[in-house]
Amino acid sequence: MDISVIVPLYNEAESLPELHAWIQRVMEANGFSYEIIFVNDGSTDNSWAVIEQLSAQNPAVKGIKFRRNYGKSPALYCGFRKAQGDVIITMDADLQDSPDEIPELRRMIVEDGYDLVSGYKQKRYDPLSKTIPTKLFNATARKVSGIKNLHDFNCGLKAYRRDVVKNIEVYGEMHRYIPYLAKNAGFNKIGEKVVHHQARKYGKTKFGLDRFVNGYLDLLSLWFLSRFGLKPMHVFGLMGSLMFLLGFVAVVVVGASKLYALANGIHARLVTDSPYFYISLTMMILGTQLFVAGFLGDLISRSSEQRNNYQIEKEI
Ligand code: UDP
Ligand code: MG
Repeated sequence: MDISVIVPLYNEAESLPELHAWIQRVMEANGFSYEIIFVNDGSTDNSWAVIEQLSAQNPAVKGIKFRRNYGKSPALYCGFRKAQGDVIITMDADLQDSPDEIPELRRMIVEDGYDLVSGYKQKRYDPLSKTIPTKLFNATARKVSGIKNLHDFNCGLKAYRRDVVKNIEVYGEMHRYIPYLAKNAGFNKIGEKVVHHQARKYGKTKFGLDRFVNGYLDLLSLWFLSRFGLKPMHVFGLMGSLMFLLGFVAVVVVGASKLYALANGIHARLVTDSPYFYISLTMMILGTQLFVAGFLGDLISRSSEQRNNYQIEKEI
């Protein structure tokens, strides 16, 4: 099969027939063999009935129905598992992404050898309250992930080589960072294509402004996991040692100045009057706690099923 199109959706019944007809038109015009996997993320409208109807008309239409709303990442994860195409395309259900981009996205994977091609909504039809924070968000994501050529990490329209989607695990709200996940899994050829974007035709956006707060927190934890996920002691141990060292220096200052005062018959002030006493106390406690966190982290990562989960490309 040439292409799997995965469409995560939450209450998008009105858009589905139009989206389906458009995808079908593009696929038939190009002679691709394809499947469309609609992942109904616990919609409360009649989206599922619409999907069943489409599937009765067109055998290429498949569906997954969640019992409740889990989020876009879980929907993508299940779509990725089910997909059988050589090239996987993800797109939003709200008609903001154009199926006309599919042939070129596929060409970039098949002929230019990209592992992942992300859409770039250069000209966006979204409210300002979204486009400005998005710029900041993308700048941070570029910096942290080291994928310098991407302008639009969170674009719903993306194309993947099949290996990529079978070897990454999208969860939580990590759909914003799929290129970063792919890069961490060793897929380095990540490209971008400027895509046409439209205003939402039906319904309204499913994400509020909290997307930016959550997005930053997720980016932080992804960065941490990719650097220290399998060796937490390396970060906690280093911080703990530095703290402990500072505390130790402070203790030496306290002790030495007391001894010096005593030896020279100067009036020796109480140890607890010295600021260094408190510094050393705090630093040593913090240092010990960081060390304990490091040991606990190592225990957890040691018993994790992921500990020996490597990306092996070939073996002979
Ligand atoms: N979506 C989903 N589950 C959710 C929220 C959103 O499957 O819990 C789908 C939604 O139906 C749409 C896509 O994810 O197909 C992108 O959502 P939306 O268009 O609301 O996001 P925006 O374009 O505002 O970033
Ligand atoms: Mg949208």
